[in-house]
Amino acid sequence: MEEKIKSVAERIKKSNKLTVLTGAGISKASGIPTFRGKDGLWNKYSPSELATYQAFSKNPKLVWSWYNYRRKIIKSAKPNAAHYAIYELEKIFKDNFTLITQNIDSLHRRAGNKNILELHGNIFQTKCLICDKVYFDDKIYEEEELPPRCRFCGGKTRPNVVWFGENLDRNILDAAMAASAQCDLFLCVGTSGVVQPAASLPKIAADIRAYVVEINVEYSGVSIYADEVIIAKAEEVLPRIVDLVKD
Ligand SMILES: [Zn+2]
Repeated sequence: MEEKIKSVAERIKKSNKLTVLTGAGISKASGIPTFRGKDGLWNKYSPSELATYQAFSKNPKLVWSWYNYRRKIIKSAKPNAAHYAIYELEKIFKDNFTLITQNIDSLHRRAGNKNILELHGNIFQTKCLICDKVYFDDKIYEEEELPPRCRFCGGKTRPNVVWFGENLDRNILDAAMAASAQCDLFLCVGTSGVVQPAASLPKIAADIRAYVVEINVEYSGVSIYADEVIIAKAEEVLPRIVDLVKD
């Protein structure tokens, strides 16, 4: 483990362009639940019954109510040491740094990162279905205010997140693929490596012979493309790597 930490830090020091991909695993230490079944209030629904456009068109109030509830939990969570370590990396690499995340929890933004591609959207953004505006919205609504109306045109709105069966935003995906194809070091943190198209990004990096590092609590679909795999908690290992990089 110690050797791996040192060697990854050396690799990062020598690299010119860094791309980082993060998934749900990085937010676990912040106490963000996976919202799958365990919670009393919502356990009669599965995410696939709520996080779809079909569910939303059938019952927008119900779907909004679920996102409102998640917003409340996520808002009270805080970025952890792994989020802050990734912010340190952006400060070191400046314009040669891209962060791609599958998370909608905004914790990277709150840790300070600026150059972020949020593949699955952001729970603190609302999108108008009429005027198409996307705006910052971290309000926790009262039940009777749901579904909220657009601040600009009064139209029908939805959470700006990607639902099951929906395509990712083309521009964001293109930028993520470009960042993966142009880096010389690709760092993958806490992703299962099974959700496409995010899972294909480390492969794109490996194909152009970027050095691929994975940090995860278990082996994943990414591990086969990785030049180095560190099986550990990101919030414990990443700050140590970053300290060595700054040395
Ligand atoms: Zn509108």
